[in-house]
Amino acid sequence: MVTAVAQRLASQRKEIDDTLATFTLSTTQLQEVKAKMRVELERGLKKDTHPTASVKMLPTYVYRTPDGTERGKYLALDLGGTNFRVLVVKIRTGMRNSVRMYNKIYAIPLEIMQGTGEELFDHIVQCISDFLDYMGMKNTRLPLGFTFSFPCNQTGIDKGDLVSWTKGFKATDCEGYDVVDMLREAIKRRNEFDLDIVAIVNDTVGTMMTCAYEDPKCQIGLIAGTGSNVCYMEEMKNIELVEGDEGQMCVNTEWGGFGENDNIEDIRTRYDREVDGGSLNPGKQRFEKMTSGMYLGEIVRQILIDLTKRGLLFRGRITERLKTKGIFETKFLSQIESDRLALLQVRSILQSLGLDSTCDDSIIVKEVCGAVSRRAAQLCGAGMAAIVDKIRENRGLDHLEITVGVDGTLYKLHPHFSTILKDTVRELAPNCKVDFILSEDGSGKGAALITAVIDKYLYAMRF
Ligand code: BGC
Ligand code: MG
Repeated sequence: MVTAVAQRLASQRKEIDDTLATFTLSTTQLQEVKAKMRVELERGLKKDTHPTASVKMLPTYVYRTPDGTERGKYLALDLGGTNFRVLVVKIRTGMRNSVRMYNKIYAIPLEIMQGTGEELFDHIVQCISDFLDYMGMKNTRLPLGFTFSFPCNQTGIDKGDLVSWTKGFKATDCEGYDVVDMLREAIKRRNEFDLDIVAIVNDTVGTMMTCAYEDPKCQIGLIAGTGSNVCYMEEMKNIELVEGDEGQMCVNTEWGGFGENDNIEDIRTRYDREVDGGSLNPGKQRFEKMTSGMYLGEIVRQILIDLTKRGLLFRGRITERLKTKGIFETKFLSQIESDRLALLQVRSILQSLGLDSTCDDSIIVKEVCGAVSRRAAQLCGAGMAAIVDKIRENRGLDHLEITVGVDGTLYKLHPHFSTILKDTVRELAPNCKVDFILSEDGSGKGAALITAVIDKYLYAMRF
């Protein structure tokens, strides 16, 4: 009798271990991911392979990082992260670190995120109007930098056609259209104030610029938040989509699309496929869906459902709660995985999510979260290793020292993500010394800094 119970427990344990083992990546597998990412980086840059590349390597028309002489007062918009914000940013010369910001957060209701493009941009302009009233600035026409955290085909710093929505957005009649035009038209429709839209900026680029303002060695921007993406300074001669061979330009890699050509199917699990299938953009952003905050909780939920169905968890009972999409936000994963938390507290978090757990259940849930977030951090690390080694080779160096500016809730809130990411980069790119610095509000400040860099340039052109 006793042995029968022990045997059953052992075999259940094995089933759980086997399930979680599909999330374990060996060093060899991570090296393969790095190598494949490198291939895709090159394919995105080359004219003939660009159209079919899974990593788009989009030119940003940002040619340099700030040098500290930027100044002025700017408006900035930040759309596409956890919050939508409108900001005014004041940059003073002389001392570095002399940036002051005022901002307001606005909600974007789901029906607007997934309504028509006109409604979305009208809503944005409505928020700007409210902000200008609030600041008493309706009559000052300030230059505006727009941080728009989606892939855009840019043909200039203030021109960008939306390639496709990602994350939770799905407004109609926007894909293929110029985002700056859509904003300008919405401002015209409202006919209440005027703005000079100077730059459209990806959040990775804003983050890199913000950190570069403090540390000139920062030439990479990473977002590990709701979405996942990287930009970095590439040599102009390697960017075949843009004329000219001199100097550098920042490239928005859009690495979230990695895997769209089926080249990482060997490491995707059935849970990844389920999450993908239930998303707004099936088949797209496969790497992002394995590495970013919007999806990690969903992967966890799919595993929990499966373990429950197999009678290994929650006494085999699948509740309505567990069937609800989006219940595991990044902040819950971060809490559950915190080492300072006793199992009893894990249980109370699960309770607050409407999941009734035993002590054993809570141990398993914690293991599941750990397996999913560890793989995410390792994959980001493997991708980053490909980028830093490329930059090192670009410059013909045996050894590269470089800084990555980082933003994003997953990186900032999760107790282990950043450590695992750094360890992985160190292991996979041993010839690079990579420092990571947190950006303080990169998306907002960065858009203003880019606007300031352009402003300074335009000013210089007048003389
Ligand atoms: C978008 C990127 C963005 C990233 C982080 C992704 O879904 O495609 O443009 O940089 O999210 O916000
Ligand atoms: Mg952001």
